[in-house]
Amino acid sequence: MADDSHEQPTTYGSLSPEAALGLLGNDVRAEILWALSEARGEDGPPALSFSELRERVAERREARARAARDPDPPESLDSSQFNYHLQQLVGHFVERRGEDGTAESQLVPAMAGDHGDGYALRPEGTTLTRTVRSMTFTDEATRDSLDVGLDCYFCETAVETAYGNGICKVQCPDCEYLYDYNLTPPGVVADSDAKTLSRVARYNRHVRLAFADGVCPYCASDVGHSFKDPAETGYPGRDRRTVLLHRQCGHCGNMDNLTLGEFLLGDPELVAFCHEHGVDVRSTPIWDLAFAATDQSVTVRSRDPWELALEVRLDGDTLELVVDDELSVVERTRT
Ligand SMILES: [Zn+2]
Ligand SMILES: [Zn+2]
Repeated sequence: MADDSHEQPTTYGSLSPEAALGLLGNDVRAEILWALSEARGEDGPPALSFSELRERVAERREARARAARDPDPPESLDSSQFNYHLQQLVGHFVERRGEDGTAESQLVPAMAGDHGDGYALRPEGTTLTRTVRSMTFTDEATRDSLDVGLDCYFCETAVETAYGNGICKVQCPDCEYLYDYNLTPPGVVADSDAKTLSRVARYNRHVRLAFADGVCPYCASDVGHSFKDPAETGYPGRDRRTVLLHRQCGHCGNMDNLTLGEFLLGDPELVAFCHEHGVDVRSTPIWDLAFAATDQSVTVRSRDPWELALEVRLDGDTLELVVDDELSVVERTRT
């Protein structure tokens, strides 16, 4: 039976998420948030006085109209219009700091003084503008067919990576095994191929290990897990994995499919075993770790309940880790 007493989630300021997003549908408010976001990146306090904020917003609107050669530029903002829009954001995405205002986002009240008086982004406003900035780029954010420097573990063809439309793909062009397919900010694209590859490898590691650890990297909620047959996921392309560890955040909807080897990359015994054999699993790209990039080292011991074994072989030595239905490592055996 549905629990009608369950409270709906609200943002700071007791708005529904939809109502909070609805506050943003105005160009003056967007400019206010952006001006305060830019102020955070400057030397000095990230708070702007009413008059300075208004001046910056007016300048930005005029500059945008000039750049767009808008034949019908926006009307100049009078103080009361500007204040109306600013106050719509205060208490939700923006806060007023100083003697007459509040600084409720500061856990240490003295910090509010150190960070200046006036208007500043609340954490929600910072997160929002950061999210938009993270998907913003100046040059063309695409890369085609970068050679990863790895021969496919299945067919020995050179594996390639490509980036476009906010997605990074690492795939074998011949057998189509997908080494990675990840929503990735355009900041991953760098001037040189080597730097782009390094960023791809490290960004993927951040995301994968955060999911493996069980705390959502976007909203800090627990992520749940289930084991899945790759055929159940509708994953694009041919997938040669035996079993996927599906992790999903029930709060923000973020999800990922991990190999067992990726999940175990933080296991202290595995880290130590690899280190003793000259492999630093914290800096090696995941695609260079065969036991994490594929399921060639995975054995399904049981499906009900799930029990999986990962065998890592290096220089003739073997480490076997066994994981149960609850993702606990129940055996660690060296031979
Ligand atoms: Zn291949
Ligand atoms: Zn989440």
